Amino acid sequence: MKKLIAFDLDDTLAVTKSPISDQMSEVLARLINYYEICIISGGKFEQFKEQVINQLKITEDKLTKFHLMPTCGTRYYKYDLIKKDWQLLYSEDLSEKQKKLIIENLKQAATELGYWEAKPYGEIIEDRGSQITFSALGQEAPPDKKYAWDPDSKKRFAIKDYIASKLDGLEIRVGGSTSIDITLAGIDKAYGMVKIIETLGIKKSDILFFGDRLQPGGNDYPVKMFGIDCLEVSRWQDTVLALEAIIHVTE
Ligand SMILES: [Mg+2]
Repeated sequence: MKKLIAFDLDDTLAVTKSPISDQMSEVLARLINYYEICIISGGKFEQFKEQVINQLKITEDKLTKFHLMPTCGTRYYKYDLIKKDWQLLYSEDLSEKQKKLIIENLKQAATELGYWEAKPYGEIIEDRGSQITFSALGQEAPPDKKYAWDPDSKKRFAIKDYIASKLDGLEIRVGGSTSIDITLAGIDKAYGMVKIIETLGIKKSDILFFGDRLQPGGNDYPVKMFGIDCLEVSRWQDTVLALEAIIHVTE
């Protein structure tokens, strides 16, 4: 039996940047009785809380079974019952010089390729400390607009190709629906899985991972390459169905 179930967030647990559904909240509340749960995504920690943790109807002690890895696993949070708050276990931050280089190149590439949005919904480029995120339409763009912008990821891969040779030592990932996440090289969702394996003293084979971007180039792909059992979903409803089946055979 698996010991830990790990999830990508956007389009695996929830509609992009939106809270999880009641159905998902209920199924996760049941799942936590049997498994440790990890969430690993390009989003920032506050999004994890708003989208998932705040939507769960569970007792506080159950929070200790959650492993939150925002910004592509460049940060790791666990709940501390004594301090009654989330504790940061590590953070792999970018230097100011690296951040500046990333931001300049993203702006130039998007402008040259004609993808720089003149009237964005909030910031297009966000500094998340350990990650710089490019959100083509702005951080607060409505989901329908975001899904329509780059459904085949071609625009984002064009930007990635444009900047790849200029960002040595950095990792560029296409994730979510309009975003590109840039972190230090070698820190990806597989790196996050290694950290969890060390923390819990478990094996690769003890983990099952759910993601919607498991194809080469996608931000969930490193987990598959690392050799962890993966289930590919295209929307959160698929995840609910699979989790109900898992709970059914576990109970
Ligand atoms: Mg996703």
